[in-house]
Amino acid sequence: MDIINCPTCGKIFMKNAVRDVCADCYRQEEADYDRVYQFLRKRENRAATIETVANSTGVEESLLYKWVRRGRLHTTQFPNLGYPCDQCGKIIKKGKLCDSCTSNIKNELEVFDKEQERIENFKKSAYYSQGKPKFGE
Ligand SMILES: [Zn+2]
Ligand SMILES: [Zn+2]
Repeated sequence: MDIINCPTCGKIFMKNAVRDVCADCYRQEEADYDRVYQFLRKRENRAATIETVANSTGVEESLLYKWVRRGRLHTTQFPNLGYPCDQCGKIIKKGKLCDSCTSNIKNELEVFDKEQERIENFKKSAYYSQGKPKFGE
């Protein structure tokens, strides 16, 4: 078990699997979560965005993002919720990156793979051009 500083209030506490903040902040977060959930339960609020939820409930956007990321607030139920892409901050619903950042990274990886392949081929051809050692020499 780790003893860490609470990221919300700075108090020292024992980190565990369920809680990433101290007991006081956890209680506060749960109260906030209840408030958010009561708000979203209403039919007319189902399509609310993070901004609307934050403004209406007074709960920090970062907390809302955390709950969406962890699946406590489901984007299947509340289609306009999401959290920012790690790279560019665009609101997304799954994974860590938005589609365009994902394809950028994929392209970079492909370029990297091609480069690796080229280096490998070069090494091989250099090896073969030196000639393999023959038996009996
Ligand atoms: Zn705390
Ligand atoms: Zn992005």
